[in-house]
Amino acid sequence: MTEAQREKYRQKLLALHAELTEKAPAKIEPNRTDEARVGGDEDEQPLNEMMQAIASKRNRNMDGVLQLVVKALGKLRDDPDSFGECEECGDDIAPGRLEAMPYVGFCVNCQGQKDAPKGGPTRRKLTDYT
Ligand SMILES: [Zn+2]
Repeated sequence: MTEAQREKYRQKLLALHAELTEKAPAKIEPNRTDEARVGGDEDEQPLNEMMQAIASKRNRNMDGVLQLVVKALGKLRDDPDSFGECEECGDDIAPGRLEAMPYVGFCVNCQGQKDAPKGGPTRRKLTDYT
């Protein structure tokens, strides 16, 4: 990977970092207490709780990406030659993949293995039992 390519990814990562840190945590609407709504309909409370659950779930996901962005930026700074290489197998990560997600640390194959459910025997098809 050339210095210019690394710089391009660094800029992308910095932009992502700014976006994530500015937007996170996702805005959680406080329970409505303004006068116009006080004593309003009873359906409102469960909806708010649902919205908060969704917002906090989104925050967790954004935290995960943010950590990866920080890690990738650190890699670009401390060990730039390893940026763009899979941390698992050492292969180059596909340029299109880095383009879309410059913070990824694994190639498609290794990421797929990591995402695969672990443990337990592989589920057999019903027809496997005789
Ligand atoms: Zn790999």
